[in-house]
Amino acid sequence: MGECRVSLPLAGGCQCGAVRYRVSKRPLTLYCCHCAECQAQSSSAFGMSMPVERAALSVDWASMKVWTRPTDSGARLECHFCPTCGSRLFHVGDRDPDIVSVKAGSLDNADVLRPIGHLWTDSAQPWFEIPRGAVAAARQPETMDAFLGRWSEATAGWFDDAD
Ligand SMILES: [Zn+2]
Ligand SMILES: [Zn+2]
Repeated sequence: MGECRVSLPLAGGCQCGAVRYRVSKRPLTLYCCHCAECQAQSSSAFGMSMPVERAALSVDWASMKVWTRPTDSGARLECHFCPTCGSRLFHVGDRDPDIVSVKAGSLDNADVLRPIGHLWTDSAQPWFEIPRGAVAAARQPETMDAFLGRWSEATAGWFDDAD
C-alpha cells in the first residue's frame, strides 16, 4: 500500500457545507460495501464505510436529519444526513452505538485513505473488479475482525497520533 502520512483530525462535511465534522482519532477500518442498501443509499455502485469511535467524532448531531432502517441482521440503523443537500454522512447501529460509520466519500481529502476491503461482493456490480489482495466477504461476515486487522497492518505508522 505504500508510505502515507495522515494528519489528525480528519475533516469532512456534506456537499453544501452546512454540516462539518472532525475525527480526532485514527479510524478503525475503511471498506467498500456493495450491498443493495449501500447502492441505494449512495445512488452509486457501492458505499464507503469508515467506522470511528463516537467520542472521536465532533459534529452538531442536531443539525442533521435522521432516517432509521432495519438491517439484514435485525438491528436498527440510524442514518444521519444533511437536511439541505441530502448528503448521507453517518450511520449508527443500535447494537454498537459507540461506533459511528462515517461515509468516507464526505472527507475533504478522501483520496489519502484507501479502503482495505470489500463487503457483500455477491451483489457487487458485475463490472467492478475486487482489487487483488483486498479483504473480501461475499455477504455480512460473522465478525469484522479481518477488516479491522488488515487496516491496522496496512496503516501502521500512517497517523500522527502515534498509537
Ligand atoms: Zn449539506
Ligand atoms: Zn452495505
